[in-house]
Amino acid sequence: MENEVVSKNFIEQEIDKDLKEGVYDTVCTRFPPEPNGYLHIGHAKSILLNYGLAQKYNGTFHMRFDDTNPTKEKVEFVDSIKEDIKWLGADWKDNLFFASDYFEAMYECAVKLIKKGKAYVCDLTAEEIKEYRGTLKEPGKNSPYRDRSVEENLELFEAMRDGKFEDGERVLRAKIDMASPNINMRDPILYRVAHMTHHNTGDQWCIYPMYDFAHPIEDAIEKITHSICTLEFEDHRPLYDWVVRECEFDHPPRQIEFAKLYLTNVVTGKRYIKKLVEDGIVDGWDDPRLVSIAALRRRGFTPESIKMFVELCGVSKSNSSVDYAMLEYCIREDLKMKKPRMMAVMDPIKLIIDNYPEGEVEYLDVANNLENEALGFRKVPFCRELYIEREDFMEEPPKKYFRLFPGNEVRLMHAYFVKCESFVKDENGNVIEVHCTYDPETKCGSGFTGRKVKGTIHWVPAPYATKAELRLYENIVDEEKGVYNKEDGSLNLNPNSLTILKDCYLEPSFDGVQAYDSFQFVRNGYFCVDAKDSRPDALVFNRIVSLKSSFRLPK
Ligand code: ATP
Ligand code: MG
Repeated sequence: MENEVVSKNFIEQEIDKDLKEGVYDTVCTRFPPEPNGYLHIGHAKSILLNYGLAQKYNGTFHMRFDDTNPTKEKVEFVDSIKEDIKWLGADWKDNLFFASDYFEAMYECAVKLIKKGKAYVCDLTAEEIKEYRGTLKEPGKNSPYRDRSVEENLELFEAMRDGKFEDGERVLRAKIDMASPNINMRDPILYRVAHMTHHNTGDQWCIYPMYDFAHPIEDAIEKITHSICTLEFEDHRPLYDWVVRECEFDHPPRQIEFAKLYLTNVVTGKRYIKKLVEDGIVDGWDDPRLVSIAALRRRGFTPESIKMFVELCGVSKSNSSVDYAMLEYCIREDLKMKKPRMMAVMDPIKLIIDNYPEGEVEYLDVANNLENEALGFRKVPFCRELYIEREDFMEEPPKKYFRLFPGNEVRLMHAYFVKCESFVKDENGNVIEVHCTYDPETKCGSGFTGRKVKGTIHWVPAPYATKAELRLYENIVDEEKGVYNKEDGSLNLNPNSLTILKDCYLEPSFDGVQAYDSFQFVRNGYFCVDAKDSRPDALVFNRIVSLKSSFRLPK
């Protein structure tokens, strides 16, 4: 279209500029997770942003495990991360890398810095290093080991590698400027001694590089052009550039920061999710109340809905929180036209049509989705005994209640008008049966134009219904109190975050459903077959989202 305004985010504008000025002639991005937990919705933003840029500029996208810290990393996480990224649709092709494969190259970079007089081995303890570092207001002090000779540094660094020192006994530091206003530049640690087994390199190494040293080298080795990270690394950029420059890489990458994605009323931070999992408060990393990617998938979110969400959020330079309702909006939008609208009763009571012949059954033609003809029709059996929702009958209705009450007539969705004649209670006073009569003239689709009714209710045919378990969710944290407790930083949990309904009934059209299949259950929301607990003879569904929302897209 001629008048189409193509608005570019600030990262795209920077890339355009770099390409135009010849700083780079191609675009190469990466997603560099540390395999120390499952990915969450915030990571999805980073993945889709990096992958999207590579696609848009006909460039390359790298998947790289930033596995330089053996303390918290596990193979389980490597596998889950790969699965999640594939599911999101980001295709790294042959470009799968592990930072730990560069340990030798990193070591050589360190040796190069020592030879240039830009790095030294320091014997100060962790405490002392902290003390010497100074504060935001005061400059730091030089380490007494700062002026060691190149030879001595080379010897000591080799001894570090050879396992001659205990953990914490020696570190390698960059020699930059202890008076720098940027604390990150005050002789940061590049290497530490850690006698630990690494999931990839085993016991080959007992020294490990620090993140700020390793990351720019990883980017430079892979010829990444635009190294996109989150805002908290902005103050580390001078160090990033220092490492790339001093190690004399031919293809210096450029770091660009953007704001993290935060959602209201959910727990993002890997640390907090991990704690919920470890404390047994949730059913693993994929508990549908979490916003890890595995949890969103199990809950019934689709890659398309997450993409739509990330696009609506945009890319920004300042931190803010996005309303969780926007994520819900995206999944509703995605499923609305794609999924059949079925009848399911969550809280059943019997409805008996006294004038409908006993033993008779007719098969009604029901459109799967009135807004999408392509989804076709299905047959739903109709008979004398049905289940309806308990809330669709009231003995003494308030004003404006248009559903069933003694003497009132409603439409049974896709079927007939029924009029409530009487009801039966059990010994505790609970209604257990509603008795009606139906009018055969009023069949849906018969062209009946007689009287009108104000209410339509859904139902399932009792003898043919499929029993199922439905799980309803609310936010895992208490909306009123805020996510984190102000006093001790703990989570304010919502005690009602999970409701399990064991005696729900579905219309009989669910043969052969598979894990992750999803449906609209009219009036009750979108539901997805639970991948962990559902069995062909004992279906379990997760409610993805209810149908109604007061959410409006921000302009
Ligand atoms: P967390 O803060 O949840 O522990 P992390 O930053 O430690 O996450 P990494 O595995 O180091 O997790 O992150 C991989 C990439 O994902 C990094 O480039 C990081 O900047 C990005 N990322 C992490 N959290 C978010 C977020 N909330 N929004 C956008 N990007 C994120
Ligand atoms: Mg991290």
